[in-house]
Amino acid sequence: MEIPVKTPSNSYAVTIGKGILREALTAQHDLFTKADKIIVLTDENVWTAQQSYFEANFPYIFEVHVMPAGEKCKSFENYNEVQTYLLKQKCTRKSLIIAFGGGAVGDLAGFVAATYMRGIPFIQVPTTILAHDSAVGGKTAINHELGKNMIGAFYQPEAVIFDITFLHSLSEKEVRSGMAEVIKHALISDAQWVEELLEGDHVTELPEDLLANYLAHGIQVKATIVEQDETEQSVRKYLNLGHTYGHAIEAAAGYGRVAHGEAIMIGLIFSLLLSEKFGKVNHQFTKRFLHFAMENGYPFEAVQEFTFEQLTEYLLKDKKADYGQLQFVLLETIGQPFVQKVELEQCREIDRQLRALLA
Ligand code: NAD
Ligand code: ZN
Repeated sequence: MEIPVKTPSNSYAVTIGKGILREALTAQHDLFTKADKIIVLTDENVWTAQQSYFEANFPYIFEVHVMPAGEKCKSFENYNEVQTYLLKQKCTRKSLIIAFGGGAVGDLAGFVAATYMRGIPFIQVPTTILAHDSAVGGKTAINHELGKNMIGAFYQPEAVIFDITFLHSLSEKEVRSGMAEVIKHALISDAQWVEELLEGDHVTELPEDLLANYLAHGIQVKATIVEQDETEQSVRKYLNLGHTYGHAIEAAAGYGRVAHGEAIMIGLIFSLLLSEKFGKVNHQFTKRFLHFAMENGYPFEAVQEFTFEQLTEYLLKDKKADYGQLQFVLLETIGQPFVQKVELEQCREIDRQLRALLA
């Protein structure tokens, strides 16, 4: 299945399906034949788990550079190492980068591509559920010690090729993490889809066809938003539902221990509680959603590990925070997001409510 993404800076297709790698790569034949060198950037876990399938279905000559997995991949040190590698390989403006991995590899490889010789083409080949989100839309970044994703660029890929065969080797934790972003896409767009998710199987036990449908649906939601607002001046902010409080939990826990999407699920509950206050979401829905998230094993115990004061430090570091005033994406009703400024004291009250619900 192909989902087109048209932004002012580039138009491309997201191809998603099972076993589609070879065919989708071949569909980009011109891009490959124009390239004087093809560099695959990946991480150690992805390469260990998926090297043989990748090599068996990649019909062009390439060099591979294997990086440390997880957030380590998005460090300045690794960014520098990769640029050095490209220079030593004598890559030029005509070289092509393949980002083969999850969101971390995609963010790093995209930023490398955006900045090597002022920009060279790249293709996203995502390997996690979460990357149905991160690989689409052109946000690329590395981390600074003073904040995650603080150094980056909007830089669109030439294509996104999402072969869901790669998802077979994901751990349960990574499936749970990625599904939180799928559920986020449902919450900001489609009440009926949310109902289906809430009533359906555990997120780690979805039949493959249904999972593929959900991923395509999520990509469609993201593509529609990114087309309207490539650089997050308006509606793209809706994609940050659950991310203000979620990022604070993720950062306080130390990146990796609570996976990105796991933290976002906690943030989604926080946003629902706030949406009861500023929108028309009813408390019964929030409680039902929380029950669903707990049944699915999201790590709510992480909240109790920190005081609100400890989380505040991270809340205020959020890129969306504007000198002490916090900006949240909330829901008027399910499927209808809006942006709301919220005082820290109001957050403290919601944080108290969340802890009471979890007790
Ligand atoms: P990740 O890339 O760190 O992958 C998670 C773990 O799974 C890693 O250990 C990785 O090595 C492993 N892995 C990946 N694919 C695998 C496979 N097929 N089989 C076995 N193991 C595999 O993390 P992620 O959850 O995919 O993405 C999180 C990152 O994405 C964060 O850095 C976040 O900031 C970023 N992100 C970016 C955007 C964006 O729009 N650019 C959006 C959301 C998240
Ligand atoms: Zn996210």
